Amino acid sequence: MLIDMHSHLDLYPNPQSIISECDRREMYVLSVTTTPTAWTVTSSLVKGSERIRTALGLHPQLAAERFSEIDLFDNFLDQTKYVGEIGLDGSNEYKGSWKVQLDVFSSILGKCTSFGGRILSLHSRSAASMVIEQLKKSPDAGVPVFHWFSGTESELRSALQIKAWFSVGPTMLKSSKGKSLVSKIPRERILTETDGPFTQISARPQVPWDVQFAISELSLLWNLPKEEVEFLLQKNLRDLTRSL
Ligand code: MN
Repeated sequence: MLIDMHSHLDLYPNPQSIISECDRREMYVLSVTTTPTAWTVTSSLVKGSERIRTALGLHPQLAAERFSEIDLFDNFLDQTKYVGEIGLDGSNEYKGSWKVQLDVFSSILGKCTSFGGRILSLHSRSAASMVIEQLKKSPDAGVPVFHWFSGTESELRSALQIKAWFSVGPTMLKSSKGKSLVSKIPRERILTETDGPFTQISARPQVPWDVQFAISELSLLWNLPKEEVEFLLQKNLRDLTRSL
């Protein structure tokens, strides 16, 4: 059984056909959202899907335009165990909104803490140290899952110290830097993801079942048959969901 721990199902041109195929394949999918206003429609898309969960999010790249939607978090947070996509983006394109990003992220972590903790799908592009620092300030916000981690090795060690998890996809596992980072993460802290439809494979947007390409890469990296990699990832998902 395949697992996509970070998919933007609501952003595909035809989400229903992607969802049906995920159901047919009995896939486990975390459907992340980028704004609180997307919650109602996006979560209703998967009402009939046993293995698909929806996360409540506010993407750091949208923080500047959508920060006022932060108040909506309180209305929906009791409906889900998952929060994402949230975090910080320190790249040149988005560092102009850094201050509002920080306000939004720390406020979300505070809300998660008061709701008893959530599983967090985290964006940390060019901002891993600061994301870790914020998580340390809110130790009861929940279980951090770094999506497509691209920090340094030293930042990776700090993330492991706060018992973070990592969702890794085909694109990350194709780059030598990504592969090297993944080789330094304990196997029991790893899950697969695609970040589709934002990511591409063979000149088309990735779909959730493209995690099979991440499994192939993990199989080479860990020197394990693909079936064993899948089995290990399923065990990881069980452990993660039970950890909260
Ligand atoms: Mn994403």
